[in-house]
Amino acid sequence: MKAFQPHYDVIVVGAGAMGTATAWKVASAGATVLLVDQSRIGNTRGSSHGESRIYRQAYFEHPDYVPLLKEAWDDWRAMQGIFNVVGALYVGPENSELITGSRFAASQFDLPLGPLHFDDPRGKVIEAPLDWASLFEPTGAVINPERATRWMADAAQRAGADIAEDTKVLAWVSDVRGTSIETDQGSYSCDKLVFCGGPWTAKLIEGLPVELVVTRQTAHWFVAPLEELDRLAQMPVFGIQDERGTFVYGFPADRETGLFKIANHTKGVTWDANMESRASRPDDDVTVRPALTRFFGGDDWQVAKISVCLYTNTPDGHFLFDRVPETENAYFIGGTSGHGFKFAPVLGAAMADVVLTGTTARPIGFLSLARFGR
Ligand SMILES: Cc1cc2nc3c(=O)[nH]c(=O)nc-3n(C[C@H](O)[C@H](O)[C@H](O)COP(=O)(O)OP(=O)(O)OC[C@H]3O[C@@H](n4cnc5c(N)ncnc54)[C@H](O)[C@@H]3O)c2cc1C
Repeated sequence: MKAFQPHYDVIVVGAGAMGTATAWKVASAGATVLLVDQSRIGNTRGSSHGESRIYRQAYFEHPDYVPLLKEAWDDWRAMQGIFNVVGALYVGPENSELITGSRFAASQFDLPLGPLHFDDPRGKVIEAPLDWASLFEPTGAVINPERATRWMADAAQRAGADIAEDTKVLAWVSDVRGTSIETDQGSYSCDKLVFCGGPWTAKLIEGLPVELVVTRQTAHWFVAPLEELDRLAQMPVFGIQDERGTFVYGFPADRETGLFKIANHTKGVTWDANMESRASRPDDDVTVRPALTRFFGGDDWQVAKISVCLYTNTPDGHFLFDRVPETENAYFIGGTSGHGFKFAPVLGAAMADVVLTGTTARPIGFLSLARFGR
């Protein structure tokens, strides 16, 4: 095993999307970095696996995210073969949060968002009621999460970062005497410590003043009937919100495998990240089958595989990016509530600013603990 240094400028705990991005940006700024993970990069126990993630800009969740998304665009575009621009289609009743929120974010930032030409085959894939809205955004894209975290970890290493996989953080301290971690492979000290523990955040940082609820989520790959494959393969990434607020999303079908991926964004059952099982269950089908049937005619399509992944939910669904309370030199990114992947490079860059200079000009203030009065 590689001998690591006893002291680093920055130690990053957790090598999922947020941790690899932070290590990459900190190391690229010239600081010494140790990136630590209890498991391996690309592991399937946290939140950064499952073959595909959506990138989009007309952010219905809140327009404050748009400048961050615009900045992240350049980093994603540089990851060739990992980021694939296919456009994004949003479908739902006129008054749904998805449609009104996307329109509002687009209007605030003058983003291209509108109907597809009536001839465009990409607009005809979803069978929705005629009075629903259908909005297309050309900047929608698919990110491959396993390859993206690998890419960012490699970039961190090329910039000089050390990476300790299969190394579990057991304890840490950050007080006037110093900042250090104790792992099952040894102890290391640092000037600044950053936690990017995904669904383990509340275990790593005890006493966090905001409750983080971890939920079990599933993504489903269906065998697309041969006669449907063309139609499903040329579609954009999509989000559909129905009259009851249920939100499903999915990706263009893969022509090589013939598989079509769709998932339900509604919070699943509460879960403990330390629980061993990530196996699927027979009743997982009910989370997506009704939408598959209604919007794609897929009542009898066969399930090829199901992946289990974890959301870490904040009370308001927005991320947390802040200093760990009661410490001088420990920080964290967490609670990404099932929509954080697309922000990883820009949140990593903002965290690099904060740990290396004490502040950032990037507009991340709305993600601080202060919004909860803490
Ligand atoms: C099904 C699903 C679909 C999603 N779809 C989208 C989407 O389309 N678009 C989008 O933008 N976002 C999406 N997200 C959200 C996005 O994937 C997450 O926000 C993001 O992956 C979170 O990354 P992370 O680095 O915070 O956590 P993780 O990837 O879970 O990384 C945390 C790491 O910390 C490590 N760790 C924990 N405890 C310790 C310890 N004690 N010592 C050492 N290491 C430790 C773990 O091993 C793990 O590798 C989705 C999430 C899921 C689950």
